[in-house]
Amino acid sequence: IIPVITIDGPSGVGKGTLSRRLSNILGWNLLDSGIIYRILASIALDNNIDTNNEIKLIMLIPLIKIDFLRKNNRFIVLLNKKEIDKNIYTEIIGNLASKIAIFPKLRASLLRYQRKFCIWPGLVADGRDMGTIVFPNAMVKIFLYASERKREQRRLDQLQKTNFNVNFNCLLSQIRERDNRDYTRKIAPLIPSVDALMLDSTDLSENEVTNKVLTYMKQ
Ligand code: C5P
Repeated sequence: IIPVITIDGPSGVGKGTLSRRLSNILGWNLLDSGIIYRILASIALDNNIDTNNEIKLIMLIPLIKIDFLRKNNRFIVLLNKKEIDKNIYTEIIGNLASKIAIFPKLRASLLRYQRKFCIWPGLVADGRDMGTIVFPNAMVKIFLYASERKREQRRLDQLQKTNFNVNFNCLLSQIRERDNRDYTRKIAPLIPSVDALMLDSTDLSENEVTNKVLTYMKQ
């Protein structure tokens, strides 16, 4: 059996950082499942595909090949063998991603796609439904959470680091809208798996979060 660690939680709790660190330390593969929804949203946007048309969105799935490459402790996301455009990380795409993420058939079609990333020697899976739906038998499940204030600050820092011009108030309302949509959708809502370790990252450094998870894994 290939070991899987799932990292779920809302935006800005530090899932991405924790997942990349664990993947580095353990030498396991990485799945950033959010990027799949972002890519589908972005392709639809670029090609004038109606994001309310679930079937058309599903037809895009076989056309995208995603690789998460680890190079000297840095991660590169490849889409069809080319490095992904940084615009994928904007809140506009994030928001659109959460709109298409409500479709049940689309989510069902993505199950097999996501499970294919589970290859030797192990997988760190980051998302919203990794522990509840995609990898229910994962060896370790983590649910990260943090105060709204801290999460919004983290998202702002992340976007500014990528040199995106962001309007703070606009960003706040977009993040709130997106999180709310993720929490309240009918299919695969953002909820902790009953067997997940609940970890509050509000006052913890990246190092502290990582160490807490590594200690928990050893138990
Ligand atoms: O994690 P990230 O911010 O990249 O995710 C973008 C959006 O994709 C989320 O707000 C959510 O709506 C959707 N998503 C999801 N299930 C996942 C990962 C992401 O519904 N496992």
